[in-house]
Amino acid sequence: MIGRIVVRFLLALVIFPGVMLGQGPPPHIIDAHIHYNGDPAFLEKLVAKLDSVDGVAFLLTKPQDLEGVRKFIAKHPNRLIGFGDLSIDDPQALELVDRFHAAGFRGLGEITSPLRDYDDRSYWPLYARGEQLGMIVLFHTGIVLRTDPNVASDISVDRMRPTTLDGIARRFPKLTIIGAHLGNPDYAWAGEIARWNPNLYFDLSGSSLIKKQDDYTFFKSIFWWSGVSSPHTPPSSASAFEKLVFGSDVFNGELEEFDRELARYHQMLDACGVPPNAQSNIFAGTLWGILNHKP
Ligand SMILES: [Zn+2]
Repeated sequence: MIGRIVVRFLLALVIFPGVMLGQGPPPHIIDAHIHYNGDPAFLEKLVAKLDSVDGVAFLLTKPQDLEGVRKFIAKHPNRLIGFGDLSIDDPQALELVDRFHAAGFRGLGEITSPLRDYDDRSYWPLYARGEQLGMIVLFHTGIVLRTDPNVASDISVDRMRPTTLDGIARRFPKLTIIGAHLGNPDYAWAGEIARWNPNLYFDLSGSSLIKKQDDYTFFKSIFWWSGVSSPHTPPSSASAFEKLVFGSDVFNGELEEFDRELARYHQMLDACGVPPNAQSNIFAGTLWGILNHKP
């Protein structure tokens, strides 16, 4: 018996070198959206921050940083989970998915700036591979920054509409999808497709919680179906707000954004009267359940 438990534990370590399965209660916070800027000093600061809040972060890592991050995560497996930040138009994308997965990374993203719509069939093999490997995929949705207005770029927000995630969620039912930024400003569409797709969540990072800071109860009109029993909406005892997960979108090493975004999330959820148990799912419980789900 003991032997069998030990073998299972060792097996879990081999399969999931990041988060260890079934190791106690969820952390206080899971941040689904932190970009690695390539500076190892940032990683040290990030882990110190996560230690201070009992947090875990999905660390979005470019292919050139894979090896360094893999080694760093091995030292902090209870704080960091690797995500492979690849371009879906990269001819090597499928091989990269396998490389990230082999390195223990649990997800892909932030997928952004595609040359075609996200739901274009040419991308299906990538999503199929992610589904097969049990990875989570984080997609940018909605308005996107324009880095250098003087440089021509083949980027359009129209290919990143939140509705492009609907067809992916339905076609790949075992793939967990997170849309970043709640489709800013297409909140209504983002909420509606999340309502019917159990494998689709959104984070609310970016400018939305700044834009709406004087009108946080607005989000009640997006997540409207809590407690509604009707043939027109899927049965659920969860708060509609539980289609949200926490994401800070820290990038360029600006870790201060983590606290600011956390405060804005709390203010908005409190303003909307979201109950404490639902809030703890939004801040950690939902993603913890997904990470520890055994197929
Ligand atoms: Zn984004």
